[in-house]
Amino acid sequence: MERMKFLCVSCPFGCFLTAEHEGGKLTGVSGNACPAGERYAAREVSGPVRSFTTTARVDGGMLPRCPVRSRSPLPLSDFFAVKREIDGITLKPPVEIGQTIIKNVLETGVDIIASRSIPS
Ligand code: SF4
Repeated sequence: MERMKFLCVSCPFGCFLTAEHEGGKLTGVSGNACPAGERYAAREVSGPVRSFTTTARVDGGMLPRCPVRSRSPLPLSDFFAVKREIDGITLKPPVEIGQTIIKNVLETGVDIIASRSIPS
């Protein structure tokens, strides 16, 4: 049995949780003020995901970099590899907000999209 301590960020209340798990399966949680904390703890011990944001290089636009983000949360364990993928591309303006920059990045099933427009 392993024990993890972390903050539940599902709401602004910010309960400090203690989760016990075996092989990524939640076996117990304490510190949560509501059932959402237990669901959050289960996700955290089995494979935490987060929204990913960074910037991508732009060639020839009015700005040198464009903010980009994952369309949906990505596994935390993939963040460094995804950052390397994004660092390997150069966007050509015009870039439209919401435009897919990398489809299915690293075969995670998640697209990387532009967070703002960059006119040419
Ligand atoms: S356990 Fe419930 S009340 Fe506490 S931070 Fe999480 S969602 Fe909010």
